Amino acid sequence: MGRLFLVNLEGKSYSCRHCNTNIALCSDVVSKSFQSRHGKAYLFRKVANVYAGEKEDRMMMTGMHTVVDIYCVKCGSYLGWRYEFAFEKSQKYKEGKSVLERYKVCGPDENNYLVVAQEVEAGETDTDE
Ligand SMILES: [Zn+2]
Repeated sequence: MGRLFLVNLEGKSYSCRHCNTNIALCSDVVSKSFQSRHGKAYLFRKVANVYAGEKEDRMMMTGMHTVVDIYCVKCGSYLGWRYEFAFEKSQKYKEGKSVLERYKVCGPDENNYLVVAQEVEAGETDTDE
């Protein structure tokens, strides 16, 4: 086991909600319209400071994919997954890219407004508490 080495990302970035480690740059967002079973998820060209779990074939809305779950290298929190292989030709663009669960990462200029911001983004009108 090597020494824990964290990459510092220059610029606006998303970081681990648990330990604040930089995970991905805003400029590397490919799509914000992904969906996981937990809610919104973003597709990134590349991510940093993560380690991958076991490869696994997973059936998704867009077809079968080989994916690995990715975890924060510092605190071990589950963050999302990376596409290793897409069985469908139309989904090949996702290979090598990573999805981060939106609720697992903090965005730039963000603090406790997250829940509100998510509701606005999703266009929900139900504001009962
Ligand atoms: Zn973390």
